[in-house]
Amino acid sequence: MNDEHWRAIVECDPASDGRFFYGVLTTGIFCKPSCKSRTPKREHVRIFASADEALRAGLRPCKRCQPHKADWRSPDEELALRVKQLIADCFPEPLTLGEIASRLHVSPYYLQRCFTRLMNCSPAQYLVHTRIEAAKRLLAETRLSIAEVAMQVGFRTGAYFAHVFHKQTKQTPTQYRTCAERNEQEWP
Ligand SMILES: [Zn+2]
Repeated sequence: MNDEHWRAIVECDPASDGRFFYGVLTTGIFCKPSCKSRTPKREHVRIFASADEALRAGLRPCKRCQPHKADWRSPDEELALRVKQLIADCFPEPLTLGEIASRLHVSPYYLQRCFTRLMNCSPAQYLVHTRIEAAKRLLAETRLSIAEVAMQVGFRTGAYFAHVFHKQTKQTPTQYRTCAERNEQEWP
C-alpha cells in the first residue's frame, strides 16, 4: 500500500472507487475506498486491484459498500478498454488512429488524449507493441519467413517490420528466433 491508497481510505475518496479495493485482515472484509465504515489500522490493510482478487484471497465483501457489485468504470476507462479490445482483435489490419476512432464513434483527438492519459502510451504505440508481441510468438512457434510474419501481424513490408522489431526488442527477428529455438532445446 502506498500513501495515496491510504489517503483515499482515510478520506473515503469516491474518486478512487474502481481503482482499487482494500481488505482488512483482522475482520476479513473488503471495501471500496469510499466506504464510510470505521477507518482500519493501516498495518491491517491490504490493497487489491479488483474485487475478484479480494474474493480469491478469501475476504468477504462489506455489506455496507457492496464492493463486489462495484466493478464500475468511467466512460474514459470504458473507451480505453474498447480500444485495447479492438487492437487485440484487429491488429493485422491496416489500422490508423482515424480508423479506430471512427469504429468507436469518437473523435481521433479525444481518443488519442483519453487513451494516452489512462494507458501511459499512445494508441499507435500500443498497436505496435501488440503486433511485436504477436510476431514474437510466430517467430518462436512457426517456420514462417520474416516477410510472412510481418504480413500476418500487420506490417506491409518485411524490412519495415525488421526495423520496428529491432527498435522494440534490440534484436533482429532472426536473432530472436534463434534465441527462442536455443531456449527450446535447453528446456529440460
Ligand atoms: Zn465497506
